[in-house]
Amino acid sequence: MAFNFEISYDMLLGSLLPVFVYWVYGGIYMAYGPCNNYRLHPKEDEDTKNFAPKETVIRGVLWQQFRQFVATNLLYMVTGAAKSAGQTPSVLVMFRQIIIAMLVFDTYQYFLHRYLHQNKFLYKHLHSKHHSLVVSYPFGAIYSHPIEGLLFDIIGGSLAIYFSGMTPRTSAFFSSFCAMKSVDDHCGLLLPWNPFHFFFQNNTAYHDLHHQLYGGKYNYSQPFFAMWDKILGTYMPYSLEKREEGGFVLRPAKDLKDE
Ligand SMILES: [Zn+2]
Ligand SMILES: [Zn+2]
Repeated sequence: MAFNFEISYDMLLGSLLPVFVYWVYGGIYMAYGPCNNYRLHPKEDEDTKNFAPKETVIRGVLWQQFRQFVATNLLYMVTGAAKSAGQTPSVLVMFRQIIIAMLVFDTYQYFLHRYLHQNKFLYKHLHSKHHSLVVSYPFGAIYSHPIEGLLFDIIGGSLAIYFSGMTPRTSAFFSSFCAMKSVDDHCGLLLPWNPFHFFFQNNTAYHDLHHQLYGGKYNYSQPFFAMWDKILGTYMPYSLEKREEGGFVLRPAKDLKDE
């Protein structure tokens, strides 16, 4: 079988647009960073409570994005999606494909994420790296161990694209949407106009609870829906209170400090 290594415009779009969106959307949030009125944690906590310096996080994210770029283009070539580059399915077909991809991605991520917490060896050697950001910030969204990055984002994203049957052009929008949602979930800000917070119960505060030292047994669902947490009893509701010096304090519905 002839194997075409040619990279088309649509394939470049599918593999580079999500990277661009990640840094631009993250950059917008970083500009809001010092604005204490909307923060879940004081800005200085990013340096005092986290276990990874920001330079290390940026290097790790860039390395992950390079591997995603290579893997995405290989996926297009291997699955034959490259041949559909340039085609534009109807809006209805694209909508159906995006919903399927969201469900596949969420299901895969929930079970893998939960297992990475329950297996102490895997947590210690893989997933704890993502959790070294107790106070998460926008560009730390996909900071993780390279093997975890492979399992979660590269394989998970590939499965979602493959099973939904997306063209590279549709996957450019889907992957960019995933990148935005991931940045949003880690932005640490509850801005009043945020449409993600309106449409998704699984949002910044929901995932922030999971990042706290007491939250490791709850709110595994990511990045879109809270359904698996609710079905399988790992959902932890929370309340948000105004902080005196500005911003919010997130409190889980149950005292989890001793768990
Ligand atoms: Zn986790
Ligand atoms: Zn996270």
